[in-house]
Amino acid sequence: MGCELLLRPASGGMVMEYSAKIARHVAAIPRSGIRDFFELVQGRDDVISLGVGEPDFVTPWHIREAAIYSLEKGQTTYTSNLGLLSLRKSISRYVRDFFEIEYDPAKEVLVTVGVSEAIDIALRALVNPGDEVIYHEPCYVSYSPSIVMAYGVAVAVETTKQDGFSLKPEALEKAITPKSKVLMLNFPTNPTGAVASNEDLEGIAKLAVKHDLIVLTDEIYCELRYDGVRHVSIASLPGMRERTVLMHGFSKAFAMTGFRLGYACAPQPIIEAMMKIHQYSMLCAPIMSQNAAIEALENGAPQVQMMKDSYHQRRDFLVKRLNEIGLDCHTPGGAFYVFPDIRNTRLTSKEFAMGLLEQESVAAVPGGAFGPSGEGFLRCCYATGMNDLRLAMDSVERFVGKL
Ligand code: PLP
Repeated sequence: MGCELLLRPASGGMVMEYSAKIARHVAAIPRSGIRDFFELVQGRDDVISLGVGEPDFVTPWHIREAAIYSLEKGQTTYTSNLGLLSLRKSISRYVRDFFEIEYDPAKEVLVTVGVSEAIDIALRALVNPGDEVIYHEPCYVSYSPSIVMAYGVAVAVETTKQDGFSLKPEALEKAITPKSKVLMLNFPTNPTGAVASNEDLEGIAKLAVKHDLIVLTDEIYCELRYDGVRHVSIASLPGMRERTVLMHGFSKAFAMTGFRLGYACAPQPIIEAMMKIHQYSMLCAPIMSQNAAIEALENGAPQVQMMKDSYHQRRDFLVKRLNEIGLDCHTPGGAFYVFPDIRNTRLTSKEFAMGLLEQESVAAVPGGAFGPSGEGFLRCCYATGMNDLRLAMDSVERFVGKL
């Protein structure tokens, strides 16, 4: 790092000490463990990857066609900062049907550049320096850095395998202090596939009301719930709509990662504050992606169901095989990840993942990349074709057998 930051310009000018130039709170943020690991895999086409959390399906054709048609019609301009009103109306209808919550498309919906942007601007809109932001861990790699970049204090609540990696109200309560301001939730969870029971969600909601917390709920995997269970968002529980920012997007269930589109629904004063940051930093989301998203919401349900059925089948296969191999694996209720326990191999999650990559050319992410409580586990993403999943599991079996 020191070498990267101390560069002598080719022109022979002054040596620039970049380490002193980078903002301290940014310099202190570690790089994503996923990125570091996947740089090793780049350019190797012999590797089966269970690593990147991205659907293996191409965006359904009718959605791509809507983007193409938008370009053909010459729609290449900025949109309203909030996003196209027609899209916000579709989002409002979809959210009402799926989550049973009403949001006014004129004032309570903001279209963002992915859920990533929604998380960033929600935190920046709400957090004052030193406010505590609580989240459950293991969690998506961006949560803690996003809190730090908003000058908040990141407070992780460890979840455990015994609890199916769900957040228990009792554990949450212990983490709440007078400085707690925001609670971040993500069910189904990346990287564990965990879901929260209705009882736990109600307990969490009561604590949020009691301690006057604002809740950011990242619902990006909400369509991908299995075993016929209906997904419930904390935003729909009594007393929660007014204190919740519901964040969702198109990357996962609609297989639209590259379109970079998401949204936030919340009471108008919060959307207004988020919109100010969005307006000055992003301006608006790309218009062709917004047009594609309307098509996704209006006509995408059959394809979403087809992809979900396929993920469901793959989840069942992976859980069965991992348990047969001797890596204890709970059955996750959603998303497209399994999180087997590798502690009985006596390897760290990094040693396991590196060994599997070197010896068997299979890439999976060390659980430690998702926070200290992910150590001892491995994240395997099953948004990968069945044939590759079969080969990958045979490789894991060989690798574990040799230990
Ligand atoms: N939130 C979670 C929990 C995720 O897993 C991801 C991507 O993997 C994101 C947010 C980012 O989503 P987007 O592509 O909408 O920015």
